[in-house]
Amino acid sequence: MGYFTKSDFLTGNKCVKRMWEEKTVSGSPTYSGQFRIYQGKLITDESRKQFPEGVLVPLFSVDENIKETQQLLKKRVPLFEAGFQYKGFYARCDILVPHGENSWDLIEVKSSKNIKQYEKYKQKYLDDIDFQRFVLEGNGIPINSYSLMYLNKDYTPEREEPLFLIEEVSDYLPLYSEPEMKKFYDFFMMASSPDVPIGKHCEKECVSYESCWKGIPDGNVFELYWDSKRRSEQFYNSGIVLLSDIPDEAKLSAKQCIQVKAAREGLQLDIDNIQEFLNGLTYPLYYMDFETFSTAIPVFDTTKVYQKVPFQWSVHVDRGDQIEHMEFLEQSTNDPRYSFISKLRRVLGDKGSVIVYNAKFERGVLKELAEAFPEFSDWVESLEERYVDLLDVFRGFSFYHPAQRGSASLKYVYPVFDQSGYSELGIQEGEFASFTYLKEFHPESLGEKLASSIDVGVPDLLEYCKKDTEAMVVIIEGLRKLLYD
Ligand code: SF4
Repeated sequence: MGYFTKSDFLTGNKCVKRMWEEKTVSGSPTYSGQFRIYQGKLITDESRKQFPEGVLVPLFSVDENIKETQQLLKKRVPLFEAGFQYKGFYARCDILVPHGENSWDLIEVKSSKNIKQYEKYKQKYLDDIDFQRFVLEGNGIPINSYSLMYLNKDYTPEREEPLFLIEEVSDYLPLYSEPEMKKFYDFFMMASSPDVPIGKHCEKECVSYESCWKGIPDGNVFELYWDSKRRSEQFYNSGIVLLSDIPDEAKLSAKQCIQVKAAREGLQLDIDNIQEFLNGLTYPLYYMDFETFSTAIPVFDTTKVYQKVPFQWSVHVDRGDQIEHMEFLEQSTNDPRYSFISKLRRVLGDKGSVIVYNAKFERGVLKELAEAFPEFSDWVESLEERYVDLLDVFRGFSFYHPAQRGSASLKYVYPVFDQSGYSELGIQEGEFASFTYLKEFHPESLGEKLASSIDVGVPDLLEYCKKDTEAMVVIIEGLRKLLYD
């Protein structure tokens, strides 16, 4: 039996069954998982450059790492990956910096970019550091401070801004006691997998997802929309599996009520709302979609950490009598942003509805482009009154079909109107499109392993982005047919 590690502890905090199962079987990371791991590696490399006199403790084996750490502690230099064990718990610290004569400052490096994101993951981050505190205290290592080091959202390679910010969190640690820590350890050491019911905590990446969710049919209570009160778990744990079986007297939101009705009777429509939406369209209609990529370390001198860099657009133009398709894809290593916006400006002109699916995204990208290229700012501002967000129809549940499975995303809505959906495409979702683009033009941001596992390219990118705007054309036609045929 190996050591109980920080990642076991963090997984156990979500599900002790998953923690136990992942002792022996590790899931194969998704493309997103591999990308995150590689971005993390790049950030780790950068963080170590902040401490040029630092020494990396060898990582060949846990026991060797622990032994070498004890030797290197005596040198009183910054240490990377110093490892400690206490009663079977093993922790490795990203960075330990000597403080005064005997003490150390512990720094945990995160690839998040700002406080907002930090807030979102705060508890996880604090748990992460607290695990290290527990093991270090057990070893009698005096720690002066515990800090998070994360990316500065304002950093660009051309500015004199630091890439990292450091924030001390010593006063916010949850201070798990030994019995609390031991509770997870005991689950970890069980002879067989603990019994945990499925719930909102389950993720498709979990190694046991297939077996735990086996036999759960479509139309189940976990499809409930915006289920922040975890009603689905309450229903499931009381024996109600299907949406259609939720009792009439159950307290649900208006949208969840529509879902239950749809599960029993099929498609639900709010004719007046859909009519109002369609009446608001002004010809020519421009169906527009963007693809972007975002990396922890900016690819270009003037872009920020994790900035969404647009590299491709697709526009279908409906002039009333014919539909035309236009597209842009930067096929070079150059910064695509200026060509992107200047060519789009020519295509969209100055009048007609600009139909997008989730306007917040396209609007945000164009606003950022207007900041970078102020000559477009008036035009970008003028688009505000031209945007029509098709997502509103589905997010507002003016249209809801059980096949959407509680989602208003285009990837769930489009197949309701055209069964072929995205299934025949080499690229089926936006994040994979961004990985494909990076593989083609900036593979250094993707890592060799991930880049070599992607076997689609430029033609697939063109097909995918085109499909997104084509899907919107099909949906609007479908809505018209429902109302007027
Ligand atoms: S699928 Fe859910 S319940 Fe099953 S092990 Fe994974 S997280 Fe736990």
